[in-house]
Amino acid sequence: MPSKQVEDVYNARRASGEIDARGRPIKRPEIERASCPCCGAKPEVKIGGPGCAWIKCRCGMETTDGSLPRVVAIWNTRQRMEG
Ligand SMILES: [Zn+2]
Repeated sequence: MPSKQVEDVYNARRASGEIDARGRPIKRPEIERASCPCCGAKPEVKIGGPGCAWIKCRCGMETTDGSLPRVVAIWNTRQRMEG
């Protein structure tokens, strides 16, 4: 990916509050997500870029499948199915 494009994405994400000054994803406590079906902990929500979000628990269970609303929906569905 060209560096200019990376820079644009970075600036856009900074502007929208998705990442902090060091480029790290900012946690979004307002995101509704179920507890982990394996260990019961609240998983971390991370945003790697546009259409690239994932939910990962400290126990290793994770959902990575595209946009934020999608991974949240998948995670919560998994919770219902396996919990
Ligand atoms: Zn877990």
